[in-house]
Amino acid sequence: MIKVCKFGGTSMADGMTMRRAAAIVESDPDRRFVVVSAPGKRFGGDNKVTDLLYETFREVKDTGKCGEAYGKVAARFRSITAELGLSFPADELLSKTARQIEEEQSEDFTASRGEYLAGRIMAELLGVPFIDACETVRFRENGMLDNERTYALTAEALRGKRRAVVAGFYGADGNGKVRTFSRGGSDISGAIVARAVGADLYENWTDVSGFLACDPRIVPDPVRIRSLSYKELRELSYMGANVLHSEAIFPVREADIPILIKNTFRPDDEGTEIVPTSKYRFGGRTVTGIAGKKNFGVIFIEKSLMNSEIGFARRILSVFEQYGISFEHMPSGIDTMSFVLDESELKEGMMDALVSGIEEAVHPDHVRVFDDVALIAVVGHGMSRNIGTSARLFRAIARAGVNVRMIDQGSSELNIIVGVDNDNYERTVRAVYEEFFR
Ligand code: ASP
Repeated sequence: MIKVCKFGGTSMADGMTMRRAAAIVESDPDRRFVVVSAPGKRFGGDNKVTDLLYETFREVKDTGKCGEAYGKVAARFRSITAELGLSFPADELLSKTARQIEEEQSEDFTASRGEYLAGRIMAELLGVPFIDACETVRFRENGMLDNERTYALTAEALRGKRRAVVAGFYGADGNGKVRTFSRGGSDISGAIVARAVGADLYENWTDVSGFLACDPRIVPDPVRIRSLSYKELRELSYMGANVLHSEAIFPVREADIPILIKNTFRPDDEGTEIVPTSKYRFGGRTVTGIAGKKNFGVIFIEKSLMNSEIGFARRILSVFEQYGISFEHMPSGIDTMSFVLDESELKEGMMDALVSGIEEAVHPDHVRVFDDVALIAVVGHGMSRNIGTSARLFRAIARAGVNVRMIDQGSSELNIIVGVDNDNYERTVRAVYEEFFR
């Protein structure tokens, strides 16, 4: 049996947590390949090393030199190696890294050094080889992962090794230049290693005991989800349930490798398993989880007989394409079509430009924009088994006195998305939770 263990930032935060992680690895001979994040926060208000590295890059861009932020990074790593009592050449490596950061002048290279250094230290602590992800993770010119090449290089680098530590979050392009995944991307690195070695299990060690049925900041002490399908996870993590990077399932899903979310600080807790739909253990609940996000904008377009106008949607979509804007959802009716956009990704004036473009392209009867919309995803395979789920959902929302701005039900019956005003977000989540979980 092969297990791949990925440890997140809080598990790498200081010497003590790294020791804990090492003990977890060593307690099970099947735990063969270890993927690490950069040191995260040790306490509320602390810095994540990756954030300090992005700051370092800004300093280097302004002054040509590593400054205060890099000083903080170096201090973190020095205290970790001192705490662990390793004969690790921390000073030498940290000065070399500073020089490289100044020479490379690359944001991705700078940001990747947290994982690189944490990986080197963890490998030393476990007494096993370190694999630099530059050698194993390949990005194409367009920034997309070259999956096949990455799996082949990773498998090759790990072949015959009893154990090894691999740095998360980064890889390199065809010219050997470092590229990173998006934030939180070490989860993807872990999934890549699991896929490449044909692991039986991908353990993702973090600081919570798995997924909760909804955000504990909104509903105190929500139930834990024991089993999730890949599909449910994708819907929930895309909508803000951020235990795992939303792209981390792709490598393992194709190979049916289950993921197990575990808590480094409470290793005996059961955690949450994420499995293919075929291996899904139906827990009897109609709804598996609720997630959501605020700050969406909705463009609502109305035109009589749009259903019979050939090329109508294409002309609208080409406006989005022309402005380089992707949209999140597209609920539609017979004479209406809405586009839901993530407002945080829109530049000043973009909404107006899109609306004018749409008016010109399809001459609608009305176009309206609703700002400050929150989307709530109610997710669960159980919804398709139970008649009346949407009636219960909307009754609960109505009872809470909330006006629904938009509804989008995917054809899979796995997910119902409800749009409400930002101000009603928390109230709606609480009402839905009450209805399905209490
Ligand atoms: N260290 C990176 C971040 O903070 C990647 C990761 O931890 O997964 O985003």
